[in-house]
Amino acid sequence: MNWEYYHQLRPDQLEAMIKEKPVAFWPLGLIEHHGWHLPIGFDGLKAEKLCIRIAEKTGGVILPTMWWGALGGHSEFKWTHYQNPTTCADILTTTVAQLISFGFRIIVLMAGHYPWQSILEQQLESLKSAYPHIDFWGGTEISICESEVKIDGDHAGKEETSYGLAMFPEFVDLSALRDGRDQTVWPKNLAPPLEDQHHRVVYDPNNPMFAQMGEPANLATTDHGNRSLQKVVNYLADQIRHQLSENTTTL
Ligand SMILES: [Zn+2]
Repeated sequence: MNWEYYHQLRPDQLEAMIKEKPVAFWPLGLIEHHGWHLPIGFDGLKAEKLCIRIAEKTGGVILPTMWWGALGGHSEFKWTHYQNPTTCADILTTTVAQLISFGFRIIVLMAGHYPWQSILEQQLESLKSAYPHIDFWGGTEISICESEVKIDGDHAGKEETSYGLAMFPEFVDLSALRDGRDQTVWPKNLAPPLEDQHHRVVYDPNNPMFAQMGEPANLATTDHGNRSLQKVVNYLADQIRHQLSENTTTL
């Protein structure tokens, strides 16, 4: 199926895409520490690769990944960039309104970073009532199919690492999960005070599972990742294809 990156298309190509497949996917990522074995852009990479898997079955365009997000339990970690949530929400709603005014009818907001969920929940409600003729899908890989598909999530642990192994193994290095690191891993060489530590995140730099939340990453497998992701891909692709066929009959 034909899908394209939005920013690589020319205006005539975009008009043709809108006529045939008015579907826009927007991967919502974030930059933050994802353990020693995963890239700091893990959430955006995960969201984008998942959008590609779906778009391969439905067609449509994929917007440039939104790398700037907000909220989460890793604000004290080096390499984490959290922005103002209101700023992120503004960019989200402004861009979605523009896409709709240009003719997109199906909007998929695929968040890789789980705290995007609360921003999406707040904004989607008003977007849905402002644009009742638009089909919206919004959430993380674990929530976007609502109760129809159940898969697990974590932070840089068994689940996310399995997704990484399944979708971009070239950026994953399990051998980096080793002990022997010290407090110099922190900005200012100092761990955050206990009261600022998220109770489910590993803060000990000497622990190979540093920064993770959930089951340990060394239990991850490519097969496990693919099995879970396939459920999301199949379900969403079916739904989008169904909506596209209804759009064609009502246009
Ligand atoms: Zn993540």
